[in-house]
Amino acid sequence: MAPACGITPDMAEQGTQGSGVTVVEHPLILVKLSAMRDAKTESREFRRKLGEVATLMVTEVARNLETIPRPVQTPLAPFEGRRLARPIILAPILRAGLGMAEGMQHVLSDVSIGHIGMFRNEETLRPESYYFKLPAHLAQAEVIVVDPMLATGWSACAAIAELKKHGATRIRFACIVSCPEGIAQLRAAHPDVHIFTASIDDGLNEKGYIVPGLGDAGDRYFGTHP
Ligand code: URA
Repeated sequence: MAPACGITPDMAEQGTQGSGVTVVEHPLILVKLSAMRDAKTESREFRRKLGEVATLMVTEVARNLETIPRPVQTPLAPFEGRRLARPIILAPILRAGLGMAEGMQHVLSDVSIGHIGMFRNEETLRPESYYFKLPAHLAQAEVIVVDPMLATGWSACAAIAELKKHGATRIRFACIVSCPEGIAQLRAAHPDVHIFTASIDDGLNEKGYIVPGLGDAGDRYFGTHP
């Protein structure tokens, strides 16, 4: 397969090995993701499934979040409860990241949402930024960047660089479908950012789409596909 992002298959293979990447495995995710991949699945169902997969992924994405004591009084006795040590910010990369943020909020109810507007220049395949609005407490927060597709990795790298420039220090990245090239690109640029993905697909085609993938996630989610 032609390397659409400058990462060779060998580099990509190395980039997916070792720590820093968690493939979130669950039979329900497999089933729902298969339906999302099906070209016959229509927007309404695609939207629903994307949200559900994101919801199912949250426990793994949030697994090592730090907690601190929170004393509570049950109806019967005092109890040493826990609460999250830091606020959470969900940072969807527009457009399709919005669907993941929506699904994750079913479990992460007390979050702030930042928006990162990037579109892909279809000629250069490079991301172009058009919007960046994050909450003021970025530096104190655990930031979860979400985008259903980690393809070339350029959008994710640019988004995370922007977040760091604005003070974010604790960042994790969650996607639904990834590929070795995107993982290698993101690991090389931001080795401190853990990647969570439901699938590592075969690779990129010459247009920078993940194969087998699921097509254009934004178009399928919003019903704008041709
Ligand atoms: N973005 C998508 O929506 N799909 C791909 O396969 C690659 C990038």
